[in-house]
Order: sequence, then structure tokens, then C-alpha cells
Amino acid sequence: MEKQNLMDRAKQHLLHTYNRYPIVLERGEGVYLYDVEGNKYLDFAAGIAVQSLGYGNRELNEAVKKQVDTLTHTSNLFYNEPIARAAERAVKAAGMERVFFTNSGTEAIEGAIKAAKKYAYTRDGHSGHEIIAMEQSFHGRSLGALSVTGNVRYQEPFGPLLPGVRFARFNDLDSVKEQINEKTCAILLETVQGEGGIYPAKTEFLEGIRRLCDAHDILLILDEIQCGMGRTGAMFAWQHYGVKPDIMACAKAIGCGVPVGAFFLTEQVAQKSLAPGDHGTTYGGNPLVGAAVDKVFEIFEREDIPGHAQRMGEYLEQKLEELVREFACIKVRRGMGLMQGLVLEVPVGQVVKLCQEEGLIVITAGGNVLRMVPPLVIEKEHIDEMAEKLRKALQQM
Ligand SMILES: *Cc1c(COP(=O)(O)O)cnc(C)c1O
Repeated sequence: MEKQNLMDRAKQHLLHTYNRYPIVLERGEGVYLYDVEGNKYLDFAAGIAVQSLGYGNRELNEAVKKQVDTLTHTSNLFYNEPIARAAERAVKAAGMERVFFTNSGTEAIEGAIKAAKKYAYTRDGHSGHEIIAMEQSFHGRSLGALSVTGNVRYQEPFGPLLPGVRFARFNDLDSVKEQINEKTCAILLETVQGEGGIYPAKTEFLEGIRRLCDAHDILLILDEIQCGMGRTGAMFAWQHYGVKPDIMACAKAIGCGVPVGAFFLTEQVAQKSLAPGDHGTTYGGNPLVGAAVDKVFEIFEREDIPGHAQRMGEYLEQKLEELVREFACIKVRRGMGLMQGLVLEVPVGQVVKLCQEEGLIVITAGGNVLRMVPPLVIEKEHIDEMAEKLRKALQQM
């Protein structure tokens, strides 16, 4: 059987760092995925919040294909046109002035941390600064990003990690205040915590952190890797709160399937931060990803994708609240826009599998949460279809 054979070969050669679902995906179309056996799945995961334009967006695909035949890579020792266009659109959408393109979200976090440290170094004339991050956060798996990820299980085997990282409780301003000292150079958090269980920041919390940062010349770094790019109904989630970061990390949907990330800085921070020789990447921001990022932002603006996500998010919330009322095993719904979580009182892994059998792909997040991060181009009919499939799965629990 072809499916089993493919799974066996992958298992035999790939390092076993993921327990994969027994589904071999073959192609995507719109908001649907198809496996090698011809099964069709409504996709409410979007490759973990990446495929925001769905699958097979013709315009994006054409832009990438054209760039493949023109020029894919040059190194950052030269200029190229696609990345100049992409950078212009990206900083405009972010309302920030400078961007550095990376190959992933993790690398965007690494760059953001280095930028904050360099800023404090320039100001104080010495290194040795500290960072405050949040419990239950997720920022990536490299040693730097892991050091600011508030999850002991992920960190434990890999110590010693980066020194000078202190953890505070998300949405608890006093716990952040307690960790501030004269060495603190940055406070890092996700505007909406993703992997940790879909926790949006409270307005008072985010505003309070901004005030603390301003009072102590501490940089606010927001991780918008999952919650950014229109997912919550604004281009970046912080724009709902009116609390602007000094540095922002972005990735996932910024390339809609092409591997790219970015960190953004305000001009004021950029001026005192990373300078020639301080940071680099061979692949980062090459013409291929430049063409993708440029096109993604063009489509997002022209089609007002964040506005659509806002409207569909409201409808999704409504439908999920109906399910919360209907099923005692759903404790609560949390989320913003098209980033939603259902806290379950039954094993979430089992529900995910039953959903797959119904032809629905959903994923999990920390604390027994069923996570939904669908393509932002979904319509009401897809949300209705999801609710029906999820209902059938929950009835079997
Ligand atoms: C996915 C994610 C990352 C890591 O991004 P990668 O592209 O997997 O390196 C960091 N922060 C948040 C909030 C994420 O969701």
C-alpha cells in the first residue's frame, strides 16, 4: 500500500522528533487538503498558521514561479529588486521603519534578542543585560529562542541555556515588575500566546508593560509570528491594542508557504542597534522569498485580508460559543479573530483524531486546547462545515 510504504520510508530516515498523524498529504486547493488516498480534509490548521491565503493561490504561485526562473539567491552582499519591494511593503504594513529578513520564526526571535542586547550595549557601554520573558510562552527551538521559551519540558535537557533570562506570568503586570532590575534590556512576549494555549494579552497588561518599558528605557519585543499577519483581524495583533513594540518578530504567514521570517525595528532602536558586522544570514531575504513576501503583502492589502479575518473571526466565535453551550466537555473558548482555542475536559488528541476521520484538520495547543488557525480566506460556509464535523466528533466522545 503506497501510503504505508511512504510512511515507513519517512520513519526509517527522518530523525524521530515528531509523532506524525498517519495521513500522507498530497495537495491542497483553497481551504482543502487531499491525501494520497484521495481523502478530502477541511483545513483549520493551515500548516500551523502559515497558509493564510489557502492552497494554490494563483497570483502568489505565479510570482514565486517567475522568480524561480529569474533569480533565486544572490547572498546579502548584493542588492536585489524583490527584497527591496518586500521590505518597503513590510515596514509600511508594520508601521515600523526597519526590517531584517530571516529564514524562520526562531531566527527572527534570535535577531530580536541580539538587537535588544546591542541597543543596551550601545547605550551603557557594556554587555551583561537581561531579558524578561513569559511563562507558557513559545518562541522557537534554537538555544537562544529556547532560553526565552517558558516551558521547562522543552528546556530541561539542553542546559545551560542563555543566562540573564527571567520569567514572569503572562497577564500579571506585578509579576513583570518584580523581575525588572537595572540590567533589564527587553521584555518579550507574544501578543496572543499560541502554543501555550491561545491566551490573548489583556489590554491593561500590554499597556502596563509599555509604560514600564518607557519608564526604564526597556525595549518591548512582541512575538507576532503566529498572531500577526492579519490572523486576529488586524495586520498585527498589537494594532488592536494601540501598544506599539520597539521590535517585532514575524514569520509563519509572511511567506504563506515560502520559508521566511523577519524582525522589525523602529528607526530609533535601529540607529543604536545592529550595525554592519553584527548580524547576518546567507539565505535570509533572498530574491525568491522577497518575491513571495512582496506578493503576500500586496494581496493582503488589496483584498483586505485582515478585515475579512475580522468578520470571519466574529462568525467563528459565534459558532464555537454554540458548541460550548452544547457540549459539557468544552470548558471555555478563547482567542481573537481566526486564532481560536477550545479548552476541553476530554483528551484533545482523541478529538483531533476523530475530527480527521470526519475530514477536518485541527491541531492542539498547551493545556488540553483544541486550536484553530484556519486559512484567512475561509468563508462562512467553511465555518459551518467545520462546526458540523466537530460536532460529530464530539458526539463520539
Ligand atoms: C511558530 C512560532 C515560533 C517559531 O517559528 P519557526 O518558524 O517554527 O522557527 C516562534 N514564536 C511563535 C509565537 C510561534 O508560533
